[in-house]
Amino acid sequence: MSVLGIKNIGTIVSGDIEKPVIEGSAILVVDGKIQKIGSEDILESVKCDKIIDANGTTVMPGLIDSHVHPVLGDFTPRQNTVGFINSSMHGGVTTMISAGEPHTPGRPKDASGTKALALLGHKSSRNARPGGVKLHGGALILEKGLVEKDFEDLAAEGCWLVGEVGLGSVKDPAEASVMVQWAKKNGFKVMMHTGGTSIPGSSTITAEDVMKTNPDVVSHINGGPTAIPLEEVDKLINDTDLALELVQCGNYKVMKYTVNQAKEKGSLHRIIMGNDSPSGSGIIPLGILRTISYVASESEVSGAEAICFATGNTARTYGLDVGIIAEGKEGDFVILDAPMGSVGDDCVKALEAGDIPGVSMVVIDGEVMFTKSRNTPPPTRKAQII
Ligand SMILES: [Zn+2]
Repeated sequence: MSVLGIKNIGTIVSGDIEKPVIEGSAILVVDGKIQKIGSEDILESVKCDKIIDANGTTVMPGLIDSHVHPVLGDFTPRQNTVGFINSSMHGGVTTMISAGEPHTPGRPKDASGTKALALLGHKSSRNARPGGVKLHGGALILEKGLVEKDFEDLAAEGCWLVGEVGLGSVKDPAEASVMVQWAKKNGFKVMMHTGGTSIPGSSTITAEDVMKTNPDVVSHINGGPTAIPLEEVDKLINDTDLALELVQCGNYKVMKYTVNQAKEKGSLHRIIMGNDSPSGSGIIPLGILRTISYVASESEVSGAEAICFATGNTARTYGLDVGIIAEGKEGDFVILDAPMGSVGDDCVKALEAGDIPGVSMVVIDGEVMFTKSRNTPPPTRKAQII
């Protein structure tokens, strides 16, 4: 049995959009799962193998990047970069969801090849954690020629993601919607590229196309990076109940508009966040924190609500047991504070001021991954292992 205690917490941001901040100054993690949240006395009844003194700072769930394009391991040929997933972990990301592996050199574009690629990506990411992150790799790219049995075969092997519809040769909603139905019948979660063309070979997809195809997630509602017109954003908010993804590598005007409209329409629970990297915009290890900071400082939501977009909302959308600080959930945390010199005096206020918080520790499954982020500015107050 391994026991981790976290004490002296200033603020717990839960990740749950219904109640973004919860009471408590201590968390007990047993064998990688959250066992109790409460006051310091919850740590007195057990012998902890390790205790973290949060030093009055903020603890939030590990961030989830809902949109990554990995290949295999912690390397991407998109920007010839090694270690980009680990770099994101130093920006607080503990879970990543593949939106497809289109950058695989010589990516097969026939039915059997795309199926094999999804299976390889899935199994590889399950057997190894690139960069220490819980990467859910192997998102099937829809290509012409796939049949219902292919989805059954992949589901039997544990695959459960369909990468952005539009990346492959299946682009027409009439054709895509049939495959999406096969996918959903077999338990897959389906994402769909939305907006203008990002790279040669991908296509412009309108709100109407998305509604006809009926995925689970509107990938980058704020464009990849060219966005749909604001009236189409309204349509997706008002006329569907799909998850609405904001990405770092997208259009910031539309990002702000989407958040404010979703708030007005009582749909904040539908907003999730991704980096959409590696991409032409590069690899941004602090991309999720930067997106939270932008939304918290420029739109009508609080810093704690913005954190929920990249944690609990994404976990609920994809059915993952992370992203919320609650009993029974996986013990993934980011411990952070306002960066040195910020006008904000804690993590949430720093985000609302438009700053990037300083991360002092990341914990995955109850294991401390590092005690000094190599990417964020230094936190004003630092958590310590005691
Ligand atoms: Zn896309």
